[in-house]
Amino acid sequence: MARHASALGALLLDDRFDGEVYPNEPMSRHTTYRIGGPARYLVRADSVGALRHVVERAEECGVPWMCVGRGSNLLVADEGYQGVIITLGRDFRTMRYDEEASRFFVGAGVPLSSVVQEAFKRSLAGLEFAVGTPGTIGGALRMNAGSRSEWLGSRVVAVTTYSPKEGLRRRPGSEISWGYRSTSFAPNEVIVECELAVEPADPFFIRGKMEASLARRKKTQPLGKPSCGSVFKNPEGDSAGRLIEEIGMKGARVGGAQVSEVHANFIVNEGDATAHDVKELIETIQAKVKQAYGIELTPEVRFLGFE
Ligand SMILES: Cc1cc2nc3c(=O)[nH]c(=O)nc-3n(C[C@H](O)[C@H](O)[C@H](O)COP(=O)(O)OP(=O)(O)OC[C@H]3O[C@@H](n4cnc5c(N)ncnc54)[C@H](O)[C@@H]3O)c2cc1C
Repeated sequence: MARHASALGALLLDDRFDGEVYPNEPMSRHTTYRIGGPARYLVRADSVGALRHVVERAEECGVPWMCVGRGSNLLVADEGYQGVIITLGRDFRTMRYDEEASRFFVGAGVPLSSVVQEAFKRSLAGLEFAVGTPGTIGGALRMNAGSRSEWLGSRVVAVTTYSPKEGLRRRPGSEISWGYRSTSFAPNEVIVECELAVEPADPFFIRGKMEASLARRKKTQPLGKPSCGSVFKNPEGDSAGRLIEEIGMKGARVGGAQVSEVHANFIVNEGDATAHDVKELIETIQAKVKQAYGIELTPEVRFLGFE
């Protein structure tokens, strides 16, 4: 324990560390749910050197670590996370467009919405489906974010990752398996940067697609309340929202967590929800859907800090 404290705690006092270290940082400040107990350390790494440094210290101390983006797909336990949460700062927040190749080179800490807006401004098509999706490029790649029919993975020409064993590694997007909200990145692989393909198109076509998608979101999603977006993946050929609605769970509540009245696949935080409330509601829905239809709903949301 003392060794843990010394090697990681030393970062706090190290002026040369390229980033910031926040001990006992409440994760409710870093999730769109606004839920979550403290991370033992939250570390913002501003360069690859800093990322490598903090990962090496954590590994050396046998302390778990994990990289997160904007926390828009995370449910963090009320007890918090007894490890190091890493976020990507300065050097991971740059974006460049190569006009000749029609490619964006984007750092993993860049908000997905910034890339979508930049593509729109330049009349480049291919990312309209992502309009309105919160989070970073790193989180979106890890989750293969998108709609039912389109996802980010299909735009990836190459991706650079860092892992303790392999260091920095760049590989073609075709070497990654991109499934429906799933990817083949290793659990300890941090996405650092990617290259995305887009194509010039009629700006009216791009605007039309984006506006239609935003209008659909506004109409069908509880955007004014804290959530993590869709809680469950849609089962093959069906919709999780439809199944939950049909078993009469729209509006169901545990503590401050409620199945949204607007979209049954959203669980919203009514203001004072705990992670425990949300988890209990998730498990109740799973049990009832299983009982009614024999279908196992798989969570899309990622759990952090639960036993
Ligand atoms: C209102 C709302 C609407 C949403 N709509 C959609 C939608 O239409 N489509 C959709 O797919 N999702 C949607 N989501 C879910 C969420 O926005 C996406 O999954 C998003 O891509 C997550 O990005 P993030 O940066 O917030 O990742 P986080 O939530 O911080 O992390 C998600 C996962 O990615 C991992 N991760 C994050 N960054 C990295 C990195 N650099 N390297 C390696 N792993 C990393 C984390 O460890 C975690 O496992 C919605 C969420 C909300 C709140």
